[in-house]
Amino acid sequence: MLITQDLTYRYPDSSTTFRFPDLRVDRAGTLLLLGPSGAGKSTWLHLLAGVLSPSGGRTELDGVDYAALRGSKLDRFRGRNIGLVFQRPYFLEALTVLENLAIARRTAGLPPDRELLQSTLHLLGMDDYADRHPGRLSVGEQQRVTIARALVNRPQLILADEPTSALDNRNAARVSALLRERASELGAALVVVTHDERLRGDFRQVVDLAQQSIHN
Ligand code: ADP
Ligand code: ADP
Repeated sequence: MLITQDLTYRYPDSSTTFRFPDLRVDRAGTLLLLGPSGAGKSTWLHLLAGVLSPSGGRTELDGVDYAALRGSKLDRFRGRNIGLVFQRPYFLEALTVLENLAIARRTAGLPPDRELLQSTLHLLGMDDYADRHPGRLSVGEQQRVTIARALVNRPQLILADEPTSALDNRNAARVSALLRERASELGAALVVVTHDERLRGDFRQVVDLAQQSIHN
């Protein structure tokens, strides 16, 4: 279960402090964080991902206050427990799809486990893509590899940043369903941040991040 409490963030050299609403997402729960550009969605996602360290408050996953972790402990915790789907996929282009997934396992201190990598590709309908190079795939295919990579460590929490904004209605609906189904199978909490109003009906909890989360 993901819990945040009294979460605030101020960028260095900025006079603006973001105050984020408390949230609670159960195992297999889904939360959509909607807000206009500049509302602080990416900032919130980076706090949840442990990429940014909060100025105040807690981020807790299954009882671990990971905002308080540092260095290699934090890296290891993130690698094993949090799957990230970024807006822009970045892969190691010299490596194949399967090798990119293997790197995600190694970074978390987990064995590559070829069978698990293959079965993760299978879940995404990408059985034949193991030996392809991600740079040569279409945008939709790259996005599915990104989702596969986010799942490969069997995380407790899946975070996605604008996963559908660039997609037409049909593919947006596909990606939304894909994320929800896979998260549900893993028993993972799913948090998506976006300005894409088409997703509103797909999620159990919807939080509207309004401009009033910003305080000077
Ligand atoms: P959103 O994802 O909702 O568009 P962001 O979290 O990216 O919003 O950014 C919210 C605001 O935070 C931005 O408008 C900007 O003013 C400020 N901001 C973002 N990144 C930085 C930074 N690195 N340094 C200072 N201010 C920043
Ligand atoms: P088309 O959109 O004409 O079907 P694509 O190359 O975009 O052609 O997609 C080929 C197949 O790959 C689709 O039929 C679909 O099954 C799958 N696909 C494409 N993009 C995505 C995506 N973003 N998420 C999930 N599946 C996708």
